Formats: sequence, C-alpha cells, structure tokens
Amino acid sequence: MVLRPLDPPPEGNGVDGARTVEKSAVLHRDLRYRFHSVAGGEGNHLVLEDGRRVFDASGGAAVGCLGWGNERVARAVLRQMLAIPYCSTVFYTTRAQEELCRFLVDSTNGKMSRAYIVNSGSEAMEAAVKLARQYFLELPEPENKRVRFISRRQSYHGITLGALAVGGHEYRRAKFEPLLMKNVSRVSPCNAFRGKIAGETDEDYVSRLANELDNEFQTVGPETVCAFIAEPVVGAALGCVPSVPGYFKAMQAICRKYGALLILDEVMCGMGRTGTLHAWEQEGVVPDIQTIGKALGGGYQPVAGVLASHRVMDVIERGSSVFVHGHTYQGHPAGCAAALEVQRIIREENLLANVQAMGALLAKRLRERLQDHPNVGDIRGRGLFWGVEFVADKSTLAPFPADAHVAPAICERGVVKYGISLYPGSGSADGIRGDHVIISPAFNVRSEEVEWIVDAVGRLVDDFFAAGI
Ligand code: PLP
Repeated sequence: MVLRPLDPPPEGNGVDGARTVEKSAVLHRDLRYRFHSVAGGEGNHLVLEDGRRVFDASGGAAVGCLGWGNERVARAVLRQMLAIPYCSTVFYTTRAQEELCRFLVDSTNGKMSRAYIVNSGSEAMEAAVKLARQYFLELPEPENKRVRFISRRQSYHGITLGALAVGGHEYRRAKFEPLLMKNVSRVSPCNAFRGKIAGETDEDYVSRLANELDNEFQTVGPETVCAFIAEPVVGAALGCVPSVPGYFKAMQAICRKYGALLILDEVMCGMGRTGTLHAWEQEGVVPDIQTIGKALGGGYQPVAGVLASHRVMDVIERGSSVFVHGHTYQGHPAGCAAALEVQRIIREENLLANVQAMGALLAKRLRERLQDHPNVGDIRGRGLFWGVEFVADKSTLAPFPADAHVAPAICERGVVKYGISLYPGSGSADGIRGDHVIISPAFNVRSEEVEWIVDAVGRLVDDFFAAGI
C-alpha cells in the first residue's frame, strides 16, 4: 500500500458508518465507547480493518515516536527474539540490556549511575518508590522513619496500587481508595492556567508553591519523608502542563533542605517528547530517581525504566549491594533491543531537533487557529507534547460537567469524521475539572503534517461545539 501521509479527512464517515468492534471478549473495554479495530500502521497513520486511515496525531498515549511500521526496529526485535527472547536476570544478562542501560546512563552525561528496565511506567514507578525507601535504610545511619511521600494533586504515576497511591488522579483512584497506602500527601500542581492568582508573577507563584511544599514537610514531619514526586510536564492528569520557570529548582531546594529525594516521573514527557532527551534538562535540576517509558521503545515493545543517581546507588552499592526488587520479565531482551534501536534512530536522524522545530510550529499554529475559540481555555505544552483544554465559559474558565465526557467525545468524532486520532483526558481536583486533548505526534512529523493536524483539529473543535453539548 502506498503511503499517503496527507490523506484528506474521510467524507461522510460518521459514527453510524464506522465499523467498530461491537462484541468483544476483551475484559478491558470501556463499554461507553465504540472501539475501532486496527489492522495496521503506516508511517503516522493507523489503518483500520475497514480500510479507513486515521492520522495518529498523539502516537496513542504519547507513545509512538517514530510512527508505525519501522522496519529497522522490527528487524532488531526479530534478531533479538531469534537469538534469545528471554533469560532470567538472576545470573544472566544480555548485550541488549547492558547496551540499553549504558546508553541511558551516558545520555545523562554521567549524572545518573544505573538503569533498571521494566515493562511499563507503573512498574517503573513502583520500583522508584521502593528504591527511595531502600536508600534511606542503607545509609550509614539508617533513617527508618522515612516512610512518606509527597506528590501533587492532578498527577498520574500509574495504575498499580503503589503507583496509584502516589498519584493524584481522583477518578482512577476513587474506587480503590481503601486499598491504597496512606503515607502519601499531596500539594498543588504547578498549573499556571488554573493555579496562578490574577496579577501574580512567576516568581511569586513559585515561592507560594515552595511555601506550600515546605509547610507540607513540616506538617507530616520532615524526617518521615522519602521523596517528593512530580512529572516535569504533567501528562494524562492535566494535559501537557509544564511548570513555570524556576519551579523545579525551588522544589528541589526544599527536598535538599529536608534530606528527601526528588523523583521525577518522565514516563510520558521523557525520552525526547519535550525536545530534550530528558525533560529535567530544561529545568536546571537533576533528579535523584527518574522514571521513563512510552517514547523509550516507541510502542514497538512494552518497555520502561528507572534511572538512579550516584547519590542513591553509591549508598546501595556500599550497603546491601542489591535492590530488593525484581520482575520475571525485567530487562527483557526484546524490549531492550526495541528501545535501543528506537533511540539509535532518534540520534542518527537528529530527531530531537525536529521535535523542537515542529513543536514550535505546532504551538504557533494551534494558538493562531484556536486560542480565540470560545470553548478553548488554554493551549500549553512543550516540544511535541501539546494540550488543549476546553471550558464551558471562557470568562469564568468554568469546565464542562463531568458527565458530558467532552474530551472523549471530541476524540471519537475526530476518528470517525476527521480521520485524526487525539488522546483525551480530564483531570479533577479540589472541585476543578478540566477536559483536554493531547496532541503528541511522532518525532519525525513533517511541517505539512503539522499544518494538516492543526487544520483538522480546528475544524473538529468548531464542529463539535457548534453542534452543542
Ligand atoms: N507515569 C506517567 C506520567 C504516565 O503518564 C503513565 C501512563 O500514562 C504512567 C506513569 C504509567 O505507565 P503505564 O501505563 O505504562 O503503566
């Protein structure tokens, strides 16, 4: 099939005409939505079973960074599978695992000491939380009282119980609240759109948030806190919200003041998505522990990881010398091979420069096209990681009611009517809810594709709100 990256949106292809998966034995199926069965992928398009082509403007959940059908990556995985698809990591390692961990450590210019490879962002966060705790137990003078974590409201750190517990995604937590560990407290996120007081400068906002974090340490007892956990650019829970300048430096200073670690969750915003390989490079801080995921393997294998700093690893190496943790499939050779090849391609093709250039174009065009729309409250992001937040009333910034499901409904209409795939989300905390869509195309997206995305999103948004909620 010939790759036609700029197919016009399909005409007259409304919900009723779309062929969707109606009967399914798949447990994890949200029955509120129609599911479209994907037969293949070509470049930046998904090809559905009924032949329709959908431009994947979000790489799924900000996962795809090279688009689909990359033969180099597929061959690298196949070579690894034929060589050895799996081995226990108790007594064995593989070249793929060694090379990937070396690549990741080197990518930090020696700021990180070691890497640990797992299969999902949630697993990475579970490991990060446990590593932080173990660090304090292995200090020359162990700090056994350090059992607490401080994170932020409207954050997302994964779906397993530990990761869910440290996160602040109210909807995803709600039903499981009684099962979640209680030694977590939350402070405000850095969200200029909803959090800044009118007339407040960035400096004042940062110092207000720093005071809030400092007070939280004081309230729970600074000697009990293992770490402060945050996403450098908030993904699923807020929709691509970066912090204001100076925020992370101020937060790290508070952590240092009380001897706590800084854990940065870069599962969604990391590995080049924001224009630098690590999002923290733009914040002037280096985390003590960092998690990575999605763009690490670009969707070619389930692969994620943890990077640990010298501060943490030196203590553990001199202590018990082993992180008391492990999964059957950790360091999985096929996952490592996929990630290595994806990262080599990003480097060889200088794709981070493309993320920066195309990100700047995407930002400019999105603002030109959408910022005056009466239901667009905010357009924010970094690199190729952009969120558009919708409001019911632009003067008060009031969000739409939760049961209107505005974000998923926009995305559904995008697929069936405009042939574009976006990633929906809604964050809620403190009674404030926000519907957003995420636009996060592959790192090799071209300028004409960016123009196409903005045109399609513009028409989709006009059409959706004109039809009434
Ligand atoms: N952390 C962040 C910031 C995420 O966005 C996600 C997933 O969206 C996770 C952790 C969990 O990753 P996974 O879904 O791969 O378990």
